[in-house]
Amino acid sequence: MLPVVALVGRPNVGKSTLFNVMTGSRDALVADLPGVTRDRHYGVCRRGERPFVVIDTGGLSGVEIDDLSIAAARQVRLAIAESAAVVFMVDARDGLMPQDRSILDELRRCGKPLLLAVNKTDGLDVATALAEFAALGASHVLPIAASHSRGLDDLLQVLAEWL
Ligand code: GDP
Ligand code: MG
Repeated sequence: MLPVVALVGRPNVGKSTLFNVMTGSRDALVADLPGVTRDRHYGVCRRGERPFVVIDTGGLSGVEIDDLSIAAARQVRLAIAESAAVVFMVDARDGLMPQDRSILDELRRCGKPLLLAVNKTDGLDVATALAEFAALGASHVLPIAASHSRGLDDLLQVLAEWL
């Protein structure tokens, strides 16, 4: 069985974009509309040394206000449960949001190896973009730009050590 990695984060941070780049597929829904991917979505990443399964999760808002987001959050928890490692994505353009903290709290309770991927760093000063997220105290932090495939090799290298 291939190891599994879950992509987790608020809606619109770029999870589906990263999923598409990792799996070389275009079927994960990428949209400007937040929260489009409601279910778990599986693909295989063959770009690193060894293949692994990637799960594109949706809907973990950190604030579950309606039945749909509760169902989506459950899907995310199931995805994390079957994962060997988690990529927690945040949006460098939005900056650190309260929801990011609540999602991270939840992820930390799962005790899985965690990589904080700071996405959308294209066109930004990377050091400044990262500084804001240092407050989260993650041990592994990487700047990426999923839509430009930037940072992908570094990300795969970190994951390869964990899988
Ligand atoms: P998801 O809701 O987390 O799955 O986010 P999506 O993958 O659907 O992306 C949300 C929006 O962010 C889309 O308009 C993407 O094109 C855009 N996006 C994703 N990655 C990047 C990036 O690295 N840089 C920029 N500038 N935009 C990005
Ligand atoms: Mg999505």
